[in-house]
Amino acid sequence: MRPACAGRRRSRCRRVVFSSSTDLERTGFTAGSRVEAAGLSGLTGAAESLFATLFPADCRLCGAPLIRISRLPVCQDCLSSVRRIAGGLCSICGEAIFSPYAGLDGQGESLCGVCRGLKPAYVQAASYGSYEGGLRELIDLLKYEGVRPAAHILGRMLGEAITRLAPEFGEPPPRVIPVPLHLRKFDERGFNQSQLIAQAALRMKPAALDLRLADGVLKRTRATLSERRLSRAQRRENMRGAFAIEKPVEVAGQQILLIDDVFATGTTVSECARLLRRAGATRIWVATVARTLSGEASGARVASHKDEDELVPLARAAHV
Ligand SMILES: [Zn+2]
Ligand SMILES: [Zn+2]
Repeated sequence: MRPACAGRRRSRCRRVVFSSSTDLERTGFTAGSRVEAAGLSGLTGAAESLFATLFPADCRLCGAPLIRISRLPVCQDCLSSVRRIAGGLCSICGEAIFSPYAGLDGQGESLCGVCRGLKPAYVQAASYGSYEGGLRELIDLLKYEGVRPAAHILGRMLGEAITRLAPEFGEPPPRVIPVPLHLRKFDERGFNQSQLIAQAALRMKPAALDLRLADGVLKRTRATLSERRLSRAQRRENMRGAFAIEKPVEVAGQQILLIDDVFATGTTVSECARLLRRAGATRIWVATVARTLSGEASGARVASHKDEDELVPLARAAHV
């Protein structure tokens, strides 16, 4: 079912709605904050139910009716369907590796075929989940429908990806740079989703680190095509000259943590990392909320009872 306000103007989508989620407390969307966000701090449970009856809203992902006040119009079933990536991953780019005979580097780390062929300019990339199902829909909700409260829960996920990288950060910790949008795209959308998600993540102090955004360091100098539809050669050509370093003095001698919403093919972050290294950055890290895994990966990664939280049921049966 299409979201109730898909395709309508962003302002229409910003209303406070109800959620059936109790799980949102974990994300910081407590019942109290939901009520306060709505300017309805005196509401009781019964009043919430009445409000829900008077102003009904549906989950923007699955269409189920929402019964709790929330700024994020997504139900608990949809939120809890999003799981972390786990299992055998390339130790550099995070691609899924299934073969027990996957190539090992000198330190015994597993590498995918791409990273065995040519190591990227970044040290390591980490993502929270696979770019499909509920996670893809949550990202799309923020990016294409302007539901900004989605940045909070996506930021929490990004924070987990940052925490996985953090043990290798040296001192001082890396400066954080969201992958920029081209000015035209920024004007169309009204915000850079990667920046909103990064800001949300940093507010939660992942790995207890006081990471700071470095503003205006990297600039997208021209619009690019979506990299998913292009061949590898076309992707490289698409990215050529697409970014520029605006403040090289803030990069030289620094570690950098690049942030993007989605790691699709890695071409975008690899190009940014290449430029940052050329400007004197010492080590580049990449954290994204989601990652496109190879087609082979999708069907094979299923949850078990043993450690369900660490495994990734990538398809939500209710929504596929
Ligand atoms: Zn839902
Ligand atoms: Zn790799």
